[in-house]
Amino acid sequence: MRVLRTIPGIRTALRPARRADRAIGLVPTMGALHEGHLSLLRAAREETHEVVASLFVNPSQFDDADDLAAYPRDEDRDVEVAREAGVDILFVPPPRLMYPPGFSTQVRVEGPLTETLEGAHRGSEHFHGVTTIVTKLLNIVQPDVAFFGQKDAQQALVIRKLVRDLDMDVRIEICPTVREPDGLALSSRNARLRGDDRKRALALRRALDVAEEAAANGERDADAIAHLARVEMEQLQVEPEYIALVNPEDLAPVHVVRGDALAVVAARVGEVRLIDNTVISGSDD
Ligand code: AMP
Repeated sequence: MRVLRTIPGIRTALRPARRADRAIGLVPTMGALHEGHLSLLRAAREETHEVVASLFVNPSQFDDADDLAAYPRDEDRDVEVAREAGVDILFVPPPRLMYPPGFSTQVRVEGPLTETLEGAHRGSEHFHGVTTIVTKLLNIVQPDVAFFGQKDAQQALVIRKLVRDLDMDVRIEICPTVREPDGLALSSRNARLRGDDRKRALALRRALDVAEEAAANGERDADAIAHLARVEMEQLQVEPEYIALVNPEDLAPVHVVRGDALAVVAARVGEVRLIDNTVISGSDD
């Protein structure tokens, strides 16, 4: 595995693969690699010939300076984990390479997709930061396939829309959420859960389970389902920032659950803000 820190370095390293028509896969990450990231890397390993992973804590997508400062960073460990996962090229750009002095361009997906849910709570700027950095990474690496996680369901939809709207020549693959044995979705932020907060963090998964169960038992009213989920979270003294049932394609609010709905939840547990989601089925068969 090569660790590269410059754009010419990446372009030169990928030239032979591109010339030989070998498929290039890209897995963008912010580091603190865990099994969720590894599942994306495995998918890339299986489906493409040349696996590129990037490690960059993107300042422009953080709405909260404390969250950015507290974001876990351990490059040496990540290099080893990436090597073991069979990554061919690890791209670790310094911030001044991605945002040189005078940088003044932003790529924005506008509309409800970036204004609701995470956009409403963190601000749309969060997604503008994501789409700007993802566009840069796609331009630098020019992969055939880029891999993202369903854990960040709204981000996945925003990136699909970005690629469609700008006719980018890349396939976006969304990989399922990887969880701890007790159901907590893996996240780099979980490492910051202290004491009881690790147990309380299960409130998000429990809320989604309750929503799923209610729909399976025939409840079709989205408000009633969300209420049950909220009550479940309160049992663990966790107050959701939002818990909602939305259309899995465009995140429009769902009032009556028919067919698939995406249940999404966000909550602060102690110092840490967590999100999770699951698709629930309202079909009667
Ligand atoms: P991050 O480093 O948190 O920006 O995540 C990098 C990529 O890994 C994103 O596409 C995430 O959606 C994905 N990811 C993060 N956590 C998980 C998880 N538990 N399961 C699957 N994918 C994940």
